[in-house]
Amino acid sequence: MQPTIDPTFIRRAVGLADLNAVRVSLYQQTGDPEIAALPVAAQLDAAGRDLLVNKAVAWLSAHADPTMPAEPPETELRRLMDMATGEQMGDLEFEARRELPAFKAFPWTAEWSDGRPDLPEGFQVAIIGSGFSGLAMAVQLELLGIPYVVLERRPEPGGTWSINRYPDIRVDTISITYEFSFEKKHPWSEYFGRGPEVREYLEHISKKFGVFEHTRFERELRTARFDEARDLWVLELQTPEGVETIEANAIVNAVGTFANPNFPHFDGQDTFEGEILHPARWPADFDATGRRVAIIGNGSTGVQLLAPIAEDAEQVFVFQRTPQWISPRDKYGAPVEPEVRWLVDNFPGYWNWWRYMAIAALFGTHGYLVPDEDWKAKGGHFNPMNDKLRADLTAYITSQTGGRQELIDRLIPDYAPFSRRPVVDNGWYRALTRDNVELVTDAIARLTPSGVETVDGTAREVDTIITATGFQVVKYLWPAQYTGTGGVDLHDLWSVDGPRAYLGMMVPRFPNMFMIYGPNSQPLSGGTGLPVWYVLWAAYSARCIVHMLELGRSRVEVKQEAFERYNAALDEAASRLLLLQEEGAPDKNYYVNSEHGRLQVSAPWYGPEYHRMCTHVDWNDMEIC
Ligand code: NAP
Repeated sequence: MQPTIDPTFIRRAVGLADLNAVRVSLYQQTGDPEIAALPVAAQLDAAGRDLLVNKAVAWLSAHADPTMPAEPPETELRRLMDMATGEQMGDLEFEARRELPAFKAFPWTAEWSDGRPDLPEGFQVAIIGSGFSGLAMAVQLELLGIPYVVLERRPEPGGTWSINRYPDIRVDTISITYEFSFEKKHPWSEYFGRGPEVREYLEHISKKFGVFEHTRFERELRTARFDEARDLWVLELQTPEGVETIEANAIVNAVGTFANPNFPHFDGQDTFEGEILHPARWPADFDATGRRVAIIGNGSTGVQLLAPIAEDAEQVFVFQRTPQWISPRDKYGAPVEPEVRWLVDNFPGYWNWWRYMAIAALFGTHGYLVPDEDWKAKGGHFNPMNDKLRADLTAYITSQTGGRQELIDRLIPDYAPFSRRPVVDNGWYRALTRDNVELVTDAIARLTPSGVETVDGTAREVDTIITATGFQVVKYLWPAQYTGTGGVDLHDLWSVDGPRAYLGMMVPRFPNMFMIYGPNSQPLSGGTGLPVWYVLWAAYSARCIVHMLELGRSRVEVKQEAFERYNAALDEAASRLLLLQEEGAPDKNYYVNSEHGRLQVSAPWYGPEYHRMCTHVDWNDMEIC
């Protein structure tokens, strides 16, 4: 028996809730035609809103229940999804989105066609990394009953969330979209969970799903060599005790994209007498109080850092090389109210539809990336949708800087939004207006013993330099050395024009090797949230391993021809997108490999198409022997 909840508490909860999610959840529970007739929340008039809120409060007062509803039958699910967005989607889109409300715990997972066969003696998979993607893979193998070991260079799970511990680090997509469907409704304290909570969430998963006991910490992969005579990977690991060798039948690289910090080098750096910190090597006891600090970089990290540092520091100089498009997020930094928590726990379906609506905002993003030549001929920058965003974000800059023109002029980028990874504002623009913060846009000439000197000859004295200068993103699987069949070295292969893979996951001549979040795999559009993709890629890799085992074979490898065909199509698709065009500032974008002038990090495909590619293994493209 649930305790009776005060209706005023419930009313407050509904008032704080995502009303579209309330609408769809309530309809799912009641089938009430009056609810079905309501438009999406943004179009509700006062009477419609009152009707919805009153009905929701009345229903919840009598029926609040912590049980999550079962997934509705397919036609009903699709109807509810259309109702949520107020738009009818096509079949391709439905296929990509149907698991986003996450009624199922384990969608897409690979399965044995007729129970688990006897596995070859000693068969095991090695997963490199225990961040989000390594955990997704490990949980997949747990479900299949395939032995595995996770090799993690850090002393704890968490990947990038273990490495990055700088002030105010947190997710910049709302946390309900940053959960696995197999571990949902996590009790986040804030709408955008902070780094330590994300780390705890990942450790919790590692322990709950039995991965932790299969994880060997402080094991850093140095070399991986495929032994062709035995169809085994031989791995050399650096451990605190020295080098260790292990063998695995397959390896899954889940090492992340933001693994290797980019440490810049400035003239005179060695003479600087203060400290230089990279956010990925943050000292636990750092205190900015009373210090003069330089922050170099205004990517997601530099932007997250400024406000908390500026609160404490005596003076902060922000060194900006290239302006960014920085946008606000509703509820960023806000705690999850007890009322909303109660709703998540007691309104059946609310979590599912809230998550769906939070992701739905990204469904249209491909539209920002495709040029409109007619529009450009008429004087537009890129296309109407992108230009509208540009105007909105420009107005946002003006509003946040109190109209200070000398700041505004230096903050507006000269390239189109969505060229680079969007940066979320946590009060960065406002912090620039503080008396103790100065925006510096002259290039850095050198470091001196006491600070930073810019090309105009100005010297700024600082005690601490924070290099929020990002990661060596184009160096996939680096610095480990991988040797495939015929002695081929992976990094040699990739030296031609940067890292490439088939679907971001497989490389010919590297049998039984997979990558999660590999080259050209970050979905640019279509919006499904990265944890969903980690599961998809893990499932794809597992499906290949399962198929190989069911056939009684010991090698699965992508064919050279399929790899080349895929990459030719990828280059062609990429060439049509904003990122490689002048308006996209390809020379200022870590998604692009500037050395080779090609898209490197992102998948150029329309999201639902890419989703289909990653959920259907084309066995004709595989060599299994
Ligand atoms: P980043 O986006 O690569 O930004 C690096 C910044 O450093 C840029 O402003 C860059 O300027 C500047 N820079 C680099 N080298 C420089 C040099 N030699 N001199 C002056 N400036 C230099 O790196 P990040 O901010 O660490 O973010 C990396 C990625 O991590 C993000 O895009 C995001 O995907 C992820 N991230 C996510 C979150 C989150 O979700 N909460 C938080 C942090 C990071 P230019 O623009 O001129 O190159």
